[in-house]
Amino acid sequence: MPVRAAGVFPSKRELRLVDHPEPRLSAPDQALVRMLEVGVCGTDREICSFAFGEPPAGSDYFVLGHEGLGEVVEAGPEAKGLRRGDLVVPMVRLPCSDAACASCGTGRQDFCLTDSFPEHGIRRAHGFMVERTVEPARFLVPVPARLRDVAVLVEPLTIAEKALFQVEAVQKRLPYPRKPGRALVVGAGPVGLVAAMAFLVRGYEVVVTARSPGDTPNARLAAAIGASYVSGRETPPEALARKLGQIDLIYEAAGSVQAAFAAMESLGTNGVCVLTGVPALQPRIPANVELIMRNVVLRNQALVGTVNAGRDAFEAAIRDLGAFLDRWPAALRGLVTGRHRLEDFRELVLGRPSGIKDVIAL
Ligand SMILES: [Zn+2]
Ligand SMILES: [Zn+2]
Repeated sequence: MPVRAAGVFPSKRELRLVDHPEPRLSAPDQALVRMLEVGVCGTDREICSFAFGEPPAGSDYFVLGHEGLGEVVEAGPEAKGLRRGDLVVPMVRLPCSDAACASCGTGRQDFCLTDSFPEHGIRRAHGFMVERTVEPARFLVPVPARLRDVAVLVEPLTIAEKALFQVEAVQKRLPYPRKPGRALVVGAGPVGLVAAMAFLVRGYEVVVTARSPGDTPNARLAAAIGASYVSGRETPPEALARKLGQIDLIYEAAGSVQAAFAAMESLGTNGVCVLTGVPALQPRIPANVELIMRNVVLRNQALVGTVNAGRDAFEAAIRDLGAFLDRWPAALRGLVTGRHRLEDFRELVLGRPSGIKDVIAL
């Protein structure tokens, strides 16, 4: 029996429910997974405006969705570590097929050297807005049952986890014992808010800044977890260092060039700025590049871009979600503000975002 799925037809510029072929185990290391929840983010909205996205070879559509949570219904004899009933989060990026790729060859397709990798729900691989799917066990990360109602946030959190690994690696350069210090999160969407939580549990003092005023649900949530919220309307990002003092880490999660470069003016001595957003190409936006370059040099700053995440970041995200649930149960659950039917995916991705995180519940 076919399964229902959210189909994206780029050549026809069409979005609709499709009857997708029944997924079946075809190798001993695979597991059959019933999808439970799939998060919706800006990437899905861009895909559904046909800015990018590519079906697998031989198909005129692909299934949307890359922020998945599912339950194993059948595990093949070599699906290591998985049993029927286990909750799992599927990884997004798959290895490229180039045998010479030193990253994919070691399971680190998030550092793929070829740009020919598939990504579930984005390019060349079906996504997770489907009733059931089949995946090799090595791309399924087990989740404790107590995280059932928040684990749809694992994928957006992996971005911050990979960023934290990068920051650790960069800051090994410092000749003195490092304290967590002050982190500035630019953007108060779900990616920014879960990153703020990750920095807080590591002992950072966290400031979240975004354009909106301080009375939005996102700003209130930032305050509820113990971060300070600064509205860009009152204090623009370039003025934050004057207001706050030394900023050790900037985590850009707004996808806005203007906000990112303005914030970079505020980065302090020996600081690291992590960029995670992918802005659309557009006419040049004025930025204070001379000042930023002076600061990068004179203050030993590092600028790091990060995309996708390896299995280590998924495992770290699952551990951290457990810590967040212990510390901020209401705020963490409050990040998911809407659960919608698969039938309504089109209206959801085409409509204006409302609330914090929308999720398709299957
Ligand atoms: Zn996403
Ligand atoms: Zn590769």
